[in-house]
Amino acid sequence: MTFRELIIYGQDMLKNAGILDFENDTKVLLMYCFNLNYTELMVKLLEEVPEEKLQYFQECIDKRIKHIPCQHITGVQEFMGYEFKVTPDVLIPRQETEILVEESLTAMNQSVSCKALDMCTGSGCIGISFFLERKSKGFDADVTLADISKEALEVANYNNKNLNADCKIIITDLFENITEKYDIIMSNPPYIKTSDIEELMDEVKLYDPRLALDGYEDGLHFYKKIIKEARNYLNYEGKLFFEIGHDQHKDVERLLIDAGYSDIILKKDYAGLDRVVIATYKKDGL
Ligand code: GLN
Repeated sequence: MTFRELIIYGQDMLKNAGILDFENDTKVLLMYCFNLNYTELMVKLLEEVPEEKLQYFQECIDKRIKHIPCQHITGVQEFMGYEFKVTPDVLIPRQETEILVEESLTAMNQSVSCKALDMCTGSGCIGISFFLERKSKGFDADVTLADISKEALEVANYNNKNLNADCKIIITDLFENITEKYDIIMSNPPYIKTSDIEELMDEVKLYDPRLALDGYEDGLHFYKKIIKEARNYLNYEGKLFFEIGHDQHKDVERLLIDAGYSDIILKKDYAGLDRVVIATYKKDGL
């Protein structure tokens, strides 16, 4: 059997199982099993597949058929050009979350130093890529990764070391163990309404940690708490960067205004959906 034939076989299996991204997922699993990058795979299309690895590929396809996300099979997800380890204890980094990091970087690109907090960090992808991007441009960054989950922080700690970042890590229920002040607080908190969780794709509903999704009854539980408490942990003119659900902009904006934040900016993602809200707190010390 050639690689090309194996791709067709895998794609048929996944397509028949109702996996939407069957074309891409087959290639991702194939590259993973046979330890090839995309170019290598394309060059090998007409070559014979090494028999001894076929069984392993079949096992990966069988897992994907059960809607286990590719990232839980390969153990990694790329984010901002960096490879992050993922496990079932962390939300798989989403591409649209890169907008949050990019906006944070842009907002701070005139500041040689920056103290940043990534609240509800999960895999650490936001804070770690913020740190690495700042460093690659010759800027300083003092970044803290915070989460309530010990298991998630183990993954964040691995990513921090593996990617040669130097972020601090704190286990904390929101701001409970936070003692310092920051120039920016970035957060992609759980924001799905509890009642909407059942409607999510199996990949998300069954395999992303519930703890990272559930924003309680109105989906706004963590925004309410973070908006209120962050005021005590932001330096003067400090900024809050939130990822939000596509229909949460008005509610989050109202919460921010009521709590005394200003300069509220909304950013959309590449699909044109509301995705990031930025706000400034100018009241500290006045
Ligand atoms: N964006 C995620 C989703 O689509 C939700 C992430 C979150 O709750 N922070 O399911």
